[in-house]
Amino acid sequence: MLIPNREYAKLKESYLFRRIAEKTDAFQKEHPELPIYRMGIGDVTLPLCDAVISALHEAVNEQSRAETFQGYQPECGAPFLRQVIADHYADRGVLLEPDEVFVSSGASDELSDLLDLFDRSNTAMIMEPAYPAYVDTSIMTGRPIVRRSANMENGFLPMPDERMKADLIYLCSPNNPTGAVYTRTQLQQWVDYANACGAVILFDAAYEAYIEDAEIPHSIYELSGAKTCAIEICSLSKTAGFTGTRLGYTVVPKALTRDGMHLNAMWVRNRTTRTNGVSYILQKGAAAVFTAKGQLEIAGQLRYYKQNAGILMQALDAADVWYTGGKNAPYLWMKCPNGMDSWTFFDRLLKEIQVVGTPGDGFGACGKGFFRFSTFGSRRDTEIAAQRLTRLLQAWIN
Ligand code: PLP
Repeated sequence: MLIPNREYAKLKESYLFRRIAEKTDAFQKEHPELPIYRMGIGDVTLPLCDAVISALHEAVNEQSRAETFQGYQPECGAPFLRQVIADHYADRGVLLEPDEVFVSSGASDELSDLLDLFDRSNTAMIMEPAYPAYVDTSIMTGRPIVRRSANMENGFLPMPDERMKADLIYLCSPNNPTGAVYTRTQLQQWVDYANACGAVILFDAAYEAYIEDAEIPHSIYELSGAKTCAIEICSLSKTAGFTGTRLGYTVVPKALTRDGMHLNAMWVRNRTTRTNGVSYILQKGAAAVFTAKGQLEIAGQLRYYKQNAGILMQALDAADVWYTGGKNAPYLWMKCPNGMDSWTFFDRLLKEIQVVGTPGDGFGACGKGFFRFSTFGSRRDTEIAAQRLTRLLQAWIN
């Protein structure tokens, strides 16, 4: 008899975004005359920049002519794209060989596929609240999980604890959902800890482009010793608006070995078996992100979202609310006022000011009593939501 993967039975139902949508739809049906300001979205709203669009068009045209047509691409990524990504790291002082960079269809795919490199008995350490894929993919693959609590006391940045042992350590900085960022010194402690105990860090850098403070590393490889203990997972989704276009990259250093096995070589073996590469057209579009024109254009888009963040930060500051994020991340994570729980706060924001955000307990138990705002909305919606938020919070708190 066929035996299904019974680990799936252990997954908790992912109801967060469905419940938000149901509540919002029900309110909209009752009050069709009231506009709703959506500050919960985790998806970008600005279109792809001109440099990318031109490169995509050009690549489509190339595919129409026999002389320029491209078939299967190398499974680990087209050399032209691996090279420009390695150059991009070099600009920040991180030296990588192009074949340490692997082109992917996005960070989500990688976060799950990479687990194939590690034995199922390996324990995964996850800081909660967390991006839900860390927990769910660990459960699906039958891995034991140790949870580290991120909370107000540790500034939502848990640090290594010698008493807690793990084989795989998930770190996400800038963090989704909390927007918290590890400093160089803090991240160095994680790297030293992983090297000392032989763990491997899965460093999710999906939001690195939002970092503006000089003391915050964009890449874990800016820390000494990281190449012997870390894999970095990156994405153009939030950096360049590729959420619907799909392209990411992963760095597996050649110096990363465990038990005599080379993880870079293992990942090459994995990719050459499990994928047939990412579309040539998309890789051409992605390469345009790393050109001078592309970098200038995406800087403009990031500035737009960052200005939204500034508007929301001002609103929370004016109401004297405790929050993390916003400065180096596209998310703000606030403590619900007056000890309110996350869903009550959600309901009241929807009913009283028609602002929709994301209840924190959807990201794990440590998110209870917290609330996430994202900065990917339109400027107008963000401004209106911010004004309403300040007024409401000030009225409640005073
Ligand atoms: N990692 C984090 C922390 C994210 O928030 C997201 C998407 O929201 C991803 C990874 C997935 O990104 P991608 O669109 O590249 O799959």
